[in-house]
Amino acid sequence: MRTPIVAGNWKMNKTVEQARSLVAEMVPGLQAIQGVDKVLCPPFTAVMPISAMLTGTEIGLGAQTLHWEASGAYTGEVSPLMVKEFCQYVILGHSERRAYFGETDETVNRKVKAALEVGLTPIVCVGETLAEYESGITADVVIRQVVAGLKDLNEEQGRGLVIAYEPVWAIGTGKASTAPAANQVISDMIRLALASLFGKDCAQVIRVQYGGSVNAANAEEFFSQPDIDGALVGGASLKTADFLQIVQAAAK
Ligand code: PEP
Repeated sequence: MRTPIVAGNWKMNKTVEQARSLVAEMVPGLQAIQGVDKVLCPPFTAVMPISAMLTGTEIGLGAQTLHWEASGAYTGEVSPLMVKEFCQYVILGHSERRAYFGETDETVNRKVKAALEVGLTPIVCVGETLAEYESGITADVVIRQVVAGLKDLNEEQGRGLVIAYEPVWAIGTGKASTAPAANQVISDMIRLALASLFGKDCAQVIRVQYGGSVNAANAEEFFSQPDIDGALVGGASLKTADFLQIVQAAAK
């Protein structure tokens, strides 16, 4: 049995004051829901104040990226250890980072290794673009991203990962994948790739989320699929009632 995990990716939204009030609003409801791991991923500026608010709760905190180097002349970047001071999770390889900030499978791989080294749980995002989907190469893309992004990790490290399958065409568009189609990509492509890296047993243990226009209305259908272990949620994670409903659906 894999415990579902629902993570809210706030992206570049919320000042510290806005983040504080959103978290204050969400915490009681999130605390009341059991049987699902809950994670909030605010922007860097809000990480420290939110970490103080989450102390003593069962709600995890995540960053949205990090740099793989431990320290040095990397203006604007944040190191794994700096993230680890406040967070338990880090989103890596999000399609927006790949599209706008030049992240590649190779840099994702460096970041995954660096995150694991300091004891963070990476949430590694993979998924095909619309053009790739329409060309029928989803399997090639997703398998390549998994294999290259997780290169040189051992089985024990593999067990500590969370993967998010996020078809790029479904992110922020309101056009979610169908639940069976997402499940098929996860079971036939992602778990297959994970098995090739870490063995079949390990591939069954690793949690794989779906992400892409998940909302309060469609969440339950995604979570009823056998290979979908929760969600990475963008837009709907900024609305308390919607996010709570999604987390509740994962707990069922
Ligand atoms: C995301 O950014 O990871 C995401 C899934 O966004 P949205 O839920 O808004 O589609």
